[in-house]
Amino acid sequence: MGNNAASSTTNTTMTNPTQAQIDAQVTAYLERAKEEFDTKYSQPAKQTAKLDDFKLQRTVGTGSFGRVMIVQRNNQSLALKVMEKQTIVKLKQVEHTLSEKRILQAIKFPFLVNLLYSFKDHSHLYIVLEFASGGEMFTHLRSVGKYTEDQTRFYAAQVTLAFEYLHYLNILYRDLKPENILFSADGYLKITDFGFAKVVRDRTYTLCGTPEYIAPEIILSRGYHKSVDYWALGVLMYEMAAGFPPFYADQPIQIYEKIVQGKFKFPSHFSTELKDLVRNLLQTDLTKRYGNLKNGTKDIKYHKWFSTMNWIALFEKRIKPTYVPKSDKDHFEKYDEKPMTHSATELYPAEFDSF
Ligand code: AMP
Repeated sequence: MGNNAASSTTNTTMTNPTQAQIDAQVTAYLERAKEEFDTKYSQPAKQTAKLDDFKLQRTVGTGSFGRVMIVQRNNQSLALKVMEKQTIVKLKQVEHTLSEKRILQAIKFPFLVNLLYSFKDHSHLYIVLEFASGGEMFTHLRSVGKYTEDQTRFYAAQVTLAFEYLHYLNILYRDLKPENILFSADGYLKITDFGFAKVVRDRTYTLCGTPEYIAPEIILSRGYHKSVDYWALGVLMYEMAAGFPPFYADQPIQIYEKIVQGKFKFPSHFSTELKDLVRNLLQTDLTKRYGNLKNGTKDIKYHKWFSTMNWIALFEKRIKPTYVPKSDKDHFEKYDEKPMTHSATELYPAEFDSF
């Protein structure tokens, strides 16, 4: 894919590339991406900036162990994720945090938030990301109620390509939800929060994610792999097109019961094709779940519901988004600002040595 995707075929006649040729180009692109990732992942960049390099403006989001702020550097707005070492240790999230930074500094994909710098001081860890100024899909989706199937398709397609890339690199994302999907100024998506992302070659057992989006195999403590991300894609597609998630209840335990049973109903306005694809993603049987089968993402990309999608044009951002966030509007909620406290001595130097 990429710039040379559509143009590098050696056909002398001007015929469109065949599906097999496109598939071969995608595989070649992913192979190169994997080499680049492996190099950066094995030699992670460290301490590439310092807090003084940035002018802090205001908080645009909070997480369990820190906050995300808009900051300025050279007249450019960036997102600074500040994490408290003390809280990370208390919540036993050291491994997850190290993994988040190690993965982020090694990946590069149009629909994933890009890491620009990382550093640490006595009390905090810092990650600087490109700023996605359009805010969270969560806020936008709630304000419009639901998306049309065309809009759902445009967003679902970007997530599919992002997962195809991550999984080729053996990265599980594990936290797909509208809160972690941001809009760039151009109306394309940027997936953020790699707090649960992990390089997994074989299988893993960690219980993590967000109740409405957790796959049945996680709840049942079965070893799992990329299947969990495709389940979450099914939940997201349903939520975008319906305006509410497929498995819903007051208490997480009740949500989990419904997920494990795999029982849900479609709103009557869903098209037959959308229902078919969602049913194949919200498939409790892992040997039947789309994305998890021998054809990988091809089962999703070449499904009837996606028949109008030009995947190369999407990757190259040549499709015009139906929604472009207003540039003069603030798309983020207001948060109380809290001054940062800095310890006189370095906290947990050994635990965060590799950050
Ligand atoms: P996180 O802790 O990574 O989930 O980030 C918490 C919240 O901060 C997100 O849900 C977004 O609202 C906001 N945020 C995170 N990363 C960015 C970014 N790169 N650009 C703009 N806002 C962001």
